[in-house]
Amino acid sequence: MSQSKLFPVTVVGSWTRPEWLVQALRRRQSGEMSAENFDILADDAVLAAIKYQEDAGVDIVSDGEMRRDNFYSFVVDKLAGMRLMKLSELLDYMKDRAGFEEILRALDVPAFAIKSPIAVDKVVGSEAGLAVEEARFLKGHTSHETKVPIPGPYLLTRSSWFEGLSDKAYPTREDLARDVVRILRRECEALKRIGVDFIQLDEPSISQVVYGDEAEQTFMCAALGSRSDPADELEFAVRLVNETVAGIEGVKFGVHVCRGNWSRKEDVLLSGNYGPLLPWLMRMDVSQLVLEMATPRAGEVEVFKEYRNEKELGLGVANPRTDEIETPAQIVGRVKQVLKYFDPEKIYLNPDCGFGTFAERCVNNAQTAYRKLQAVAEAAEMLRREYS
Ligand SMILES: [Zn+2]
Repeated sequence: MSQSKLFPVTVVGSWTRPEWLVQALRRRQSGEMSAENFDILADDAVLAAIKYQEDAGVDIVSDGEMRRDNFYSFVVDKLAGMRLMKLSELLDYMKDRAGFEEILRALDVPAFAIKSPIAVDKVVGSEAGLAVEEARFLKGHTSHETKVPIPGPYLLTRSSWFEGLSDKAYPTREDLARDVVRILRRECEALKRIGVDFIQLDEPSISQVVYGDEAEQTFMCAALGSRSDPADELEFAVRLVNETVAGIEGVKFGVHVCRGNWSRKEDVLLSGNYGPLLPWLMRMDVSQLVLEMATPRAGEVEVFKEYRNEKELGLGVANPRTDEIETPAQIVGRVKQVLKYFDPEKIYLNPDCGFGTFAERCVNNAQTAYRKLQAVAEAAEMLRREYS
């Protein structure tokens, strides 16, 4: 990682999908299109995503996750033993189906659009890895530094273990977690080997542990499986992240935690400041926390007071779900609040989350996403002039 600039601008990962790509994805998933033909189309979509980012002034680019159905479900194509299941199919295995459907409606969750990778047998990785091919294509088409988001070990374990479907192969979640960690460690090693600069472990379901109330506890960003005591869950998450990254040097690791990006209705997404999570997040052996802060739902920045400079912050300064473009001055203002607790060297700038977490329900269009990134890059320039 050689970012010499202050306030490097990056993304959380996903770019908005053009309609033709979503249609192609559906055809691939139903078997009407081969994976090879889908990839040829997706190559074009990735090139456009890279171009948008570069033109907007992004320093560390991603491939937009254009080949993925969503940020974690895509692993079904890469791992044996996993089956992609729609939320609506999983309803059949829920103890309280009617109650759960009610929750989904209230939270504006598109049950048809959200799919989870469910472990239905022993999960085994292949030589091809999870995101290695994506990363290779990205590296081949940009001279910028690169970020590759992959599902974190807690997210993957928690979303994939489902009672009635997974317990024959894995009696407990812990049994599945061991295989998940092994697969993700190999993935990180492989991404590092091909020269990826920044690996982001997506762990949004961690926030559900703390902020989801009783009604919400069965759904939040893949957190379908039940949760146990919050402190035990968070301890489990810290252990899995640390086991995943242990001893892997020469690549930057970040953990991304937000409170949901499945709907533009802010009131259905979880809210609360990062205070209750920080004691655990700070114990994760990663250099950066990639956090949403542009939405008022993320709460006040004062929670960082006790953790001055302890980690780098991938600071969310643009809301991916709104039409309005943040102004560079607004963004600079937000960063200055955080500069009370972090040195300029510790701050990276990014939107709160991706622009297309779920392929079937992207939260913005490319033009707006582009203009938001442009505003972030302009703000970064203003900050560099002041702090360099
Ligand atoms: Zn997110």
